[in-house]
Amino acid sequence: MCVLNLTGQLSHPLRSSMLCIFCLQERAPSLEHVFPLSVGGTVTTDRVCQECNSTLGTRVDAALSDFLPIRARRAELRLAGNSGTPPAWYEIFLGDATVIGQNVNRIQTTFDEATRKLDHRQLYHATDVVTADGRKQRRITIDARDKVQIPKIIQRERKRHGLAPLSDEELNAAAGDFETKEVKNPVVQLSIGASFAFLRHAMMKIAYELAFLWLGEAYLKDPIANALRTAILDPDVASTDKIDAYVDVADGCTAFKQFWIPTKSTTWPMPSSWRMVASRSMLGSSTSMQFPSW
Ligand SMILES: [Zn+2]
Repeated sequence: MCVLNLTGQLSHPLRSSMLCIFCLQERAPSLEHVFPLSVGGTVTTDRVCQECNSTLGTRVDAALSDFLPIRARRAELRLAGNSGTPPAWYEIFLGDATVIGQNVNRIQTTFDEATRKLDHRQLYHATDVVTADGRKQRRITIDARDKVQIPKIIQRERKRHGLAPLSDEELNAAAGDFETKEVKNPVVQLSIGASFAFLRHAMMKIAYELAFLWLGEAYLKDPIANALRTAILDPDVASTDKIDAYVDVADGCTAFKQFWIPTKSTTWPMPSSWRMVASRSMLGSSTSMQFPSW
């Protein structure tokens, strides 16, 4: 018997053992979210063992939860998932970046909790230059807020270059020899990566679990179910490439609507272009799914 519940909880205590729909072993069950909890999933089943739940959660569900457009939407909807903390809207801006312009400089962006604003900090940069009168100089660029570090930096650079340390007096004079530059409206270039790896596994896993919940035990023996199961469990990212699938929408699928009903407590987490269907034609034919169209 399959258990379907829209509250995110099972309607009865976990059984001591069941046939896992992935590894097909008799094992202790776990609470499996068909749509990952991190995207607001409330449909649960107890037909996935702890081991499969854990492995697939790390490799497959995470691919969906951490997919950049999904994270952005999760941030907007404050969907936390297991971690208890939803993604932050600003996270894609954090880290090292490059200011484009006359002086190409590396900066580091963090989020200032006090001001609730992004904070850009010039990263330490050292280069050798030749002045107009032919003298060789070491030019250090630091964030203006790190001015107090200048004496220490001078002594460190001198040591690194085999020069004697300056006296206090010399150091004071040298430390005052700097210019401050303000970069107005800087153009910042940063790299944002979005991985598609295992995204298809994640969607096939949802389709597979929905199909099982809809069609019951017989579905586990279906050749397409077998192909899906094998591909989903395979750690090779290319394992789903040869799965015969076609694109369709879920509008006509009553069962899908029963599985996934947006309510006040369940914010619809998917873009409208993303629909999925587990149709009865799966038995002996093929799996229907539509991939997100970002
Ligand atoms: Zn299992």
